[in-house]
Amino acid sequence: MTKRHFDVTSGNTLRCRGWRQEGLLRLLENVLSVAEDPENLVVYAALGKAARDWPSHDVIVQTLKTMRDDETLIVQSGKPIGVVRTHERALIVVMANCNMIGQWAKAEEFYQLEKKGLICWGGLTAGDWQYIGSQGVIQGTYEIFRCIAERHFSSNLSGKLILTSGLGGMGGAQPLAGRLAGAVILCVEMDGARINKRIEAGYLQHRAETLDEALKLVADAQRAGNGCSIGLLGNSADILPEIHARGIVPAIVTDQTSAHDLVYGYLPAGLSAAEIQALRESEPEKLAALSMKSIARHVQAMLDFQSAGSIVFDNGNLIRTQAKKAGIGNAFDIPIFTEAYLRPLFARAIGPFRWIALSNDENDIRRIDDYLLETFSDNPSVVNWITLARAHVPFEGLPARIAWLGHDARTQVGLAVNGMVRDGILAGPVAFTRDHLDAGAMAHPNIMTENMKDGSDAIADWPLLNAMLACSSQADLVAIHSGGGGYAGYMTSEVSQSSPTAPAMRMSVCKLR
Ligand code: NAD
Repeated sequence: MTKRHFDVTSGNTLRCRGWRQEGLLRLLENVLSVAEDPENLVVYAALGKAARDWPSHDVIVQTLKTMRDDETLIVQSGKPIGVVRTHERALIVVMANCNMIGQWAKAEEFYQLEKKGLICWGGLTAGDWQYIGSQGVIQGTYEIFRCIAERHFSSNLSGKLILTSGLGGMGGAQPLAGRLAGAVILCVEMDGARINKRIEAGYLQHRAETLDEALKLVADAQRAGNGCSIGLLGNSADILPEIHARGIVPAIVTDQTSAHDLVYGYLPAGLSAAEIQALRESEPEKLAALSMKSIARHVQAMLDFQSAGSIVFDNGNLIRTQAKKAGIGNAFDIPIFTEAYLRPLFARAIGPFRWIALSNDENDIRRIDDYLLETFSDNPSVVNWITLARAHVPFEGLPARIAWLGHDARTQVGLAVNGMVRDGILAGPVAFTRDHLDAGAMAHPNIMTENMKDGSDAIADWPLLNAMLACSSQADLVAIHSGGGGYAGYMTSEVSQSSPTAPAMRMSVCKLR
């Protein structure tokens, strides 16, 4: 088999007929360059893939290289299906990933279809090529910690302990988010390689092999009042009950293991990595049952911390849903992060918006940072975030930035960046993307739309409308994803758009009236 390289392309030499196609090709290369398991096309979240298989990937790359502006590539669950003649203002890529029908949308059905090569799960930002490494969720996690600090700790997390698990593609943002919020954050992780990866990427400071060693680092940092991050090698289903038994009450407890997936994601306690891999192949049902048992212990410990006074929340990995199935009847006493902390922002059409320097020149992102600091100088949350991010958040892959902005601000930034590209202030075009964590972009009764005031939790019309609107607003790529119903259980829409070198406004943002 040919050895694959996972590099990003720099500079302004086009391999495609235009920047719109070239931009999407660079985004595809970028998600693989920062992926957790690029050889298997897995970007993050255990199974979230950039393409269905390598032949599909290679055809997508070849097609992007030859497509004209008046053509649209159709991608179905990571497989290129065909190119149709559309028109010059139409999308370059239209995608649908992992959408399954009602009563058939179950994890077992998904695994069968996946094995037959008929479907692939695109995660949320993997399948549509907009993942930018752990930075993608860092501001969201940071804003949640800040909101908890404001509500419960007089806006001060100094000396406070955050206990969490999972240092994967998304969870890897937690240690830096916690440290930026001023807390001491302890992250339990089963896979030593992931701990090392986050240290190398600059997202995590310390690695501990034992609980005693970790708690000493925690105590030292708490005494000094410094923000600090520690990765502890171990299984959360063992470690969390042990911390509780020792009478330690963290200020905040959450989790980012891949609990949505009982076979490829969550790792049950008491088994080695080799034993888990063997069970995955020989007895996946047995492995799923063991994961359920461990999740029950893990969530019981989270509930025990809650009873002892910790602020506990679910960070969108379905751990409560699994625990409830495993017999923890009050798992939903733990609130979901969206309802508890972020919904007021969505209600004002504020959400994460990211921009990626296709030139691979870090200065492009710094120049846009300068623009934001100057233009939004009266918006403390933008100034605070951009100041922190430029000082502390390392780039992974193509230089990129994410910031929570409202729709008007997005339009303003998009137009300004178009001008900077046109005037040669930036080294190259910039891709803007908007994911599912946004107003009307995701329906999931256990994540985004839990406890909607009007009871509309399970209605998936909004992300579909959102996607159709984005298609008619000149986006370059629009994707409709689902988690295969029972597999991860949601419906989302995602959008990407390159800022062209021409002055014309081609942003895919819409103003709310
Ligand atoms: P990932 O698969 O890349 O990483 C998960 C990590 O958890 C792995 O490193 C694994 O070794 C570790 N792990 C699994 N079981 C463990 C256990 N019992 N004890 C200790 N460590 C264990 O996943 P990811 O991309 O980091 O995503 C994590 C979860 O968060 C997923 O369920 C994902 O869907 C969800 N998610 C939420 C948001 C959000 O906005 N809140 C965003 C993205 C992803």
